[in-house]
Amino acid sequence: MSDVSLIMQAADFAARRHAGQRRKGVAAEPYVNHLLEVAALLADATGGNDAALIAAALLHDSLEDTATEYEEIDARFGPDIAALVAAVTDDKSLPKAERKRRQIESAPNATSRAKLLKIADKTSNVRALIVSPPTNWDLARVVEYIDWAEQVVARCRGQNAMLERAFDAAVTDARAAIAKSAA
Ligand code: ZN
Repeated sequence: MSDVSLIMQAADFAARRHAGQRRKGVAAEPYVNHLLEVAALLADATGGNDAALIAAALLHDSLEDTATEYEEIDARFGPDIAALVAAVTDDKSLPKAERKRRQIESAPNATSRAKLLKIADKTSNVRALIVSPPTNWDLARVVEYIDWAEQVVARCRGQNAMLERAFDAAVTDARAAIAKSAA
């Protein structure tokens, strides 16, 4: 499969699997917007040289949030992409607090590419908190999310300066917006 075909197959697969899902923010954007943002961040940060990573970005929430099995990703897209997706998938049988704790704990052991995917995912999520805040989140919960995302990203640094700058800018913007709203 060519790089372009691989990426478009992943985009098509993800759009179908997440069809009908919306982001939890007030703008209720289609879920696929988040997947495309994460993929675009990674494409820019890696100079478009890692098609499998971009495909994995498009698929990164399919195991966690849709009726998709690991074996299906493996069969359609191969073991490299399946492993990348699995590396950013939480165990949903665990309580939320434990899942969040494990993300911090396991981040240093992730591969370099999985770390990039984690940073891009958190960048998109932190941006969304300000552009389209979750309707039922108070300010304390927003701050708590940003603090947690920073802890995960702190354990993923040293892989890609451009991507880390994008995350840091998102955090700076978010904290400025929070300070303004609290003033
Ligand atoms: Zn995500």
